[in-house]
Amino acid sequence: MKFSECPSVAICPNLSKRVENFLAFIEKRYPSPTCALIHKNPYELLCATILSAQCTDKQVNKTTPNLFKQYPSPKALSEADITHIEQIVRSTGFYRNKAKALVNMAKAVIERHGGAIPDTLADLEKLPGVGRKTANVLLGNVFNTHALVVDTHVIRITNKLAFVDTLDPLKAELELMKIIDKERWTNFSHQVIFLGRDLCSARSPRCDICLPELIGGG
Ligand code: SF4
Repeated sequence: MKFSECPSVAICPNLSKRVENFLAFIEKRYPSPTCALIHKNPYELLCATILSAQCTDKQVNKTTPNLFKQYPSPKALSEADITHIEQIVRSTGFYRNKAKALVNMAKAVIERHGGAIPDTLADLEKLPGVGRKTANVLLGNVFNTHALVVDTHVIRITNKLAFVDTLDPLKAELELMKIIDKERWTNFSHQVIFLGRDLCSARSPRCDICLPELIGGG
């Protein structure tokens, strides 16, 4: 499925200029982007990100305090009864798969990394239930590593803006890495996700509000 083109593409066909305008715009509109999933450490963010699949951040944030209170560490979670975890995470949807992923992830963290959440893409991606997107969330938000998180908002909006021409998340990530400065990767992902929820929704994008700011470079 292809998305309708952002009107800024016809107005500003030069890619570099369009990227520059867009970055200025999102930086001005969302100056202090932070991760919407509430967490105090890498373990908590990893659990919350696993739970966020097909679920709103708001619902995840309602669920995790109880999970972290009862299972405050990978060790505690690795020894959990899966049916108890299922009860706790039920409201996030797909709860059986998520409970299994959480416990298996915790077991792998204990067995392979002595209880510490690994801080490299390669090691994170090898954990059960952890894909590249989740690994990049961890790298960018708790391990101070530049990382581009490509979710459905980022795929949709960067295709509309003709920054990328692919629906494949890995290809899109690699294409975006070439046109966005490394230092901006983590914030860029947050800001595009905020834009997707705020003005550039899939159903009714508010180009009337967005476009004048966007082509003006913020
Ligand atoms: S809402 Fe903004 S980014 Fe989205 S299509 Fe309209 S002008 Fe482009």
